[in-house]
Amino acid sequence: MAETDMKLVVVGAAGRMGQTLIRTIHAIEGARVYAAVEREGSPFVGKDAGELAGLGPIGVPVTSAPLEAFVHAEGVLDFTAPAATVEFAGLAAQARIVHVIGTTGCSAEDDEKIKAAARHARVVKSGNMSLGVNLLGVLSERAARALGPEDWDIEVLEMHHRHKVDAPSGTALLLGEAAARGRGIALADHSVRVRDGHTGARPRGSIGFATLRGGSVIGEHAVMIAGEGEMVTLSHSATDRSIFARGAVRAALWARDRKPGLYSMLDVLGLN
Ligand code: NAD
Repeated sequence: MAETDMKLVVVGAAGRMGQTLIRTIHAIEGARVYAAVEREGSPFVGKDAGELAGLGPIGVPVTSAPLEAFVHAEGVLDFTAPAATVEFAGLAAQARIVHVIGTTGCSAEDDEKIKAAARHARVVKSGNMSLGVNLLGVLSERAARALGPEDWDIEVLEMHHRHKVDAPSGTALLLGEAAARGRGIALADHSVRVRDGHTGARPRGSIGFATLRGGSVIGEHAVMIAGEGEMVTLSHSATDRSIFARGAVRAALWARDRKPGLYSMLDVLGLN
């Protein structure tokens, strides 16, 4: 462990992503697990964060007091739930540290609060922290620009494990936003999130979403651009959660010396 290692707090430490983050930080040079936070009442509070993640003890007991953990830290890695993330954004702003947000399912109101917190904190927020999906977004934007709405229909398909609570996934929305950017339209005015019963013909220029849930699938996404007699499919498969965790640590290290503000993974990866 070096003096210069970035001191990171993992919130939601007992979750699927929380445990992956602890293992990933432990294996990466230049960062260390400084604190681990779980919700009050969690049976994991007081347990060693390394043991929780299957590493063996690392001398960091899980706490339910986030502000105390944030005060002397340099960054927070947050894959929790929208209400918790909004709370952590306020605390990260108070502590003036980096806040990397992977949590999905935030409402417009939540996003406004996060934006306000980014006046003081360096926030990196993305529905997907992997290099592959962010590149897929760039490719989807280009494809949507080249294949216009008169002849081509865009559908975003996603599948995730049975425990996922929000739909469509943050990644599907990220890809839909990218396609909408390519077309020069606002996704909110053109997205079709549900189809059921007699729907009528497909509105031209809309961007459709289809959501599948089941088993232990980590994340499957496809942007399908269908024309007369041909279809272009751009897709990504996640087979290991560590791709998101590595991206999150990279984002924290990138944001360490930035000015306060709201950044995306495209900024971190230089794809903007
Ligand atoms: P999970 O349910 O396994 O873990 C969430 C954890 O957060 C739980 O342990 C829970 O107790 C904890 N938590 C909730 N409220 C808290 C609070 N107030 N304080 C402290 N801890 C709290 O879920 P998961 O599969 O790890 O996913 C978490 C989030 O990350 C979801 O929104 C998911 O969609 C998102 N996600 C994003 C990416 C990405 O790259 N952006 C990748 C994977 C998952």
